[in-house]
Amino acid sequence: MSTRMPVVFVSHGAPDALLKSPDAVACWREIGLRIPQPRAILAVSAHWEARVPTVSHAGAPATIHDFSGFSPSLYRMQYPAPGAPALAERVVSLLSAAGIAADLHPSRGLDHGAWVPLSVMFPKAQLPVTQLSLTRQGASAHLGVGQALAALRDEGVLILASGAITHNFAWLDWDAAAGQALPQALAFTDWVGEQLAARDVPALLAYRDAPNGAASHPSEEHFMPLFVALGAADGDSPERYRPEFAYGGLAMDAYTWRD
Ligand code: ZN
Repeated sequence: MSTRMPVVFVSHGAPDALLKSPDAVACWREIGLRIPQPRAILAVSAHWEARVPTVSHAGAPATIHDFSGFSPSLYRMQYPAPGAPALAERVVSLLSAAGIAADLHPSRGLDHGAWVPLSVMFPKAQLPVTQLSLTRQGASAHLGVGQALAALRDEGVLILASGAITHNFAWLDWDAAAGQALPQALAFTDWVGEQLAARDVPALLAYRDAPNGAASHPSEEHFMPLFVALGAADGDSPERYRPEFAYGGLAMDAYTWRD
């Protein structure tokens, strides 16, 4: 009997989360230990956008250090997982069957939205990983991508969506104490938690009209992975994890959905 894989969403925080957000790191470790061992992983990170959903065909995806100004130790980190070209082809096939134009990228590596949480959840880097891009087509389109890919859960594939529940740089306080949370960021984070628990997809799709919604996401890309996860969750109930905020304004909430 095959196990239907859970779906995971994590807020990856600032690029130095591995060094500065021990509470979130502990959460990612716990999630990694609690879910069944996947056959392969499809990562969806806020840090890759393309015209149409695009998935990496790389046989050995490089670790991309797509940030600057952080500790040199972060630039030395590598996540040498094997690629998953067959999974990439399957993703394109499922999306095409759902009427969603999709593409392969021959060599794209793993950006920090993918490898940072993966390095905690699956530290041995032995499981095949590929990454799927976002588009600029909005929440509803990303929900549709997730729905089209839900079948992967029955094929031993873990869908790991990595973004942010709040992502407004003007809200960040680089000197914030651990556990400090800006009230408007906390309010939107709890609103998201309530809508997810209620499985109120229309409310979530209209998040920009919710209190603090548009302010939590001056640009949409960090919230879009949540919609891919929500689509793939296929109506399952979420479990919410609430690690401490990073830099006062970055909610670090994570969710898992199980059958
Ligand atoms: Zn990010």
